[in-house]
Amino acid sequence: MSQPKFKRILLKLSGEALNGGDKSQVIDFNVLDDYSREIRRIYDAGVEIAIVIGGGNIFRGASVEKSGIDRVQGDHMGMLATVINGMAVQSSLEKNGMITRLMSAIKMEQVCEPLIRRRAIRHLERKRIVIFGAGTGNPYFTTDTTAALRAIESESEVVLKGTRVDGIYTADPEKDPLAIKYKHLSFDEALAKNLRIMDMTAFTLCKENNVPIIVFDMNKPGNLYNLVMGDDSVGTLVSSEA
Ligand code: UDP
Repeated sequence: MSQPKFKRILLKLSGEALNGGDKSQVIDFNVLDDYSREIRRIYDAGVEIAIVIGGGNIFRGASVEKSGIDRVQGDHMGMLATVINGMAVQSSLEKNGMITRLMSAIKMEQVCEPLIRRRAIRHLERKRIVIFGAGTGNPYFTTDTTAALRAIESESEVVLKGTRVDGIYTADPEKDPLAIKYKHLSFDEALAKNLRIMDMTAFTLCKENNVPIIVFDMNKPGNLYNLVMGDDSVGTLVSSEA
């Protein structure tokens, strides 16, 4: 069997990925199960896997400010939401036969491990999937920034940003049938074209620390595996190379 292209990856999934686009439910456990089976394929290939999951299906700090909830309070609620999602992902991965650890940037020892970087790396070396919960632990950040930060800290080679579209396009492919997919972009090109791949903090962290980002469609079976095995037709790569 051929070797995976990456030894260690960080997979970023938005919270909304977990409800399968159906806002009437928080988590669609069938979708979660499908994701777990996709992840199992790269786990079996020996890839070390870190995961950051968003919380947008449950709570977004900024969106509740107008209801009178203080931003910092709202952001903490958002971070707690990522732990709930992390617990769901953990259970689903374990149900599908994988060994996992959930680590939280906000201490909640009855529920999960506290985030200790060296311990996270040890888990990864031992082929345990590490789910990083509670974002960065700080308000005013996003889980995309968390993904960038944890990728750097965990010495992951790449951030794989799983979305509903197969990469970055010249226009919104859901609205413009003439939109063309980029195969590769440099960080500078993406900035010059004002393509919003991740928020600026996340993007800058990746650029300055030379961590490539691959945006790909997580809903297409086999995509994650093919990507990790080196199929460069999957998704769009954003890297330092021009
Ligand atoms: N959040 C935060 N600090 C972080 C990460 C997340 O305050 O380091 C809060 C913020 O309120 C955010 C919410 O958690 O709106 C959920 O995260 P995000 O919106 O990034 O989730 P996604 O859009 O990926 O589902």
